[in-house]
Amino acid sequence: MKKALVYITVILLFFAGGLYFSTEKSIEPKSTKRVKFALGTMIEFTIKDEEDSTAEKAINEAYAEILRIDSIFTDYSDQSEIGKLNLEKPAFDTLSSEVYSLFAKSRELWLKTNGAFDITLGELVSLWGFKIKDAEPVKEIVLPGKKEILEAVNRTGMSKIYLQEPDKIYLNGMKGQFDLGAIAKGYAVDKACEVLEKMGIKNYLVNAGGDVRGAGSNWVTGVQHPRQKENLAVVVNINGVAIATSGDYEQFFEKDGVKYHHILNPRTGYPATGLMSVTVIAPDLTTADALATGFFVMGYKEAIKLAESLENVECYIIDATGQEHQSKGFYKYIRS
Ligand code: ADP
Ligand code: MG
Repeated sequence: MKKALVYITVILLFFAGGLYFSTEKSIEPKSTKRVKFALGTMIEFTIKDEEDSTAEKAINEAYAEILRIDSIFTDYSDQSEIGKLNLEKPAFDTLSSEVYSLFAKSRELWLKTNGAFDITLGELVSLWGFKIKDAEPVKEIVLPGKKEILEAVNRTGMSKIYLQEPDKIYLNGMKGQFDLGAIAKGYAVDKACEVLEKMGIKNYLVNAGGDVRGAGSNWVTGVQHPRQKENLAVVVNINGVAIATSGDYEQFFEKDGVKYHHILNPRTGYPATGLMSVTVIAPDLTTADALATGFFVMGYKEAIKLAESLENVECYIIDATGQEHQSKGFYKYIRS
């Protein structure tokens, strides 16, 4: 029974992802598809133009890479590198080169988004009840108090940490918790794609619950409409690029008629307001994933301005009134 429930949850999570489907324009005979579970979502691997056995082997290795990354970056375990950092909160520490690199990338995106994307919000995410472990019973919803939120905001912030090349971190008063939930999925998929490419696979698509990266074909992917579950907001071509969507419909609860979702404004500690969904296209999924979350906090005007200033970054945004906004070059990806 428990297993069945978990399975149903998994299926629901899959369809709750930002993108609704991913497929190819033309139907060709050789295509291997496998669906695996990791990072709290279903991950769909599709490989074209390879023998089934070659594709299967590549998918298994790519999946193993995703599990490896999850085991480093998850904040759901005290044993992961991030879990240990959160538990011990040393004033000063040496990071593995992989964690240092993703922290450095996160810091760069924190600067670019003017603080909207921030990997130090773990305590606030917990306060709002969005750190739900598998099969945990749903408790009665109690909203965090204003004072509690303010105190957590004061303990939090990328401005409080200092990174020194090649691998040092100074926590320098940062008493919050690291949460890489808005970037690690993208990074894991990028690393999985790297594995596929190293194995000589040229034509592939990896779809992690709506965050997608594809190469080698005219891959087509649909972005789910944030309010009409059965409909797509837009359908895009993605060949050699990555696409990620962040929305207020992915994880949320309602209390007294007010909706509270999982994308938080680091300045206020409250769920970001003004938008329903943000889709970002970028050369890699690490960037697209993080920017989709950051843009959501920034609002469409600032987000579009930033997207247009960044090379090869485009965005498509639906604001809280249902109005669509897009960066100048987004139209090039729309499937005609
Ligand atoms: P999803 O994981 O559903 O694809 P996102 O990529 O937008 O969605 O990541 C949202 C997660 O990132 C939240 O669940 C939380 O753990 C974390 N988070 C929330 N707000 C921010 C923020 N402003 N900056 C960075 N991470 C955030
Ligand atoms: Mg994200």
